[in-house]
Amino acid sequence: MIEPGHPYIGSVNLLSCLLPDATHVRLETWALEPAQSAITINLHARQATARCPLCGRRSKRIHSRYGRTLADLPWGEYAVTIRLSIRRLFCDNAQCERRLFAERLPGVAAPWAKVSKVSPAKQVE
Ligand SMILES: [Zn+2]
Repeated sequence: MIEPGHPYIGSVNLLSCLLPDATHVRLETWALEPAQSAITINLHARQATARCPLCGRRSKRIHSRYGRTLADLPWGEYAVTIRLSIRRLFCDNAQCERRLFAERLPGVAAPWAKVSKVSPAKQVE
């Protein structure tokens, strides 16, 4: 495996080509694995906080993360996988019925909603 590339070199141009709305995500890492003919691109949300969909209060207290594969695309001999790390956050509003919620990135995830897959939750230490 080749060492993952610097996440910021060319990331703006790359993301604007791959995503319909790259303003809400940043390129975290990418990896090229010639033996598997695979390229994996890992994206994270840019915003430090997310808004509870029920009460609207912002939170930055992270419960866990889970990965969502947005797309598996062929690129020549390579399979390009675009993964998005989604945070589950606590809603700290005592009046709100929602204790946990997943951040929403509609401009990023929605266009691939029909083909994306959710992978098991991963606890944050
Ligand atoms: Zn809430």
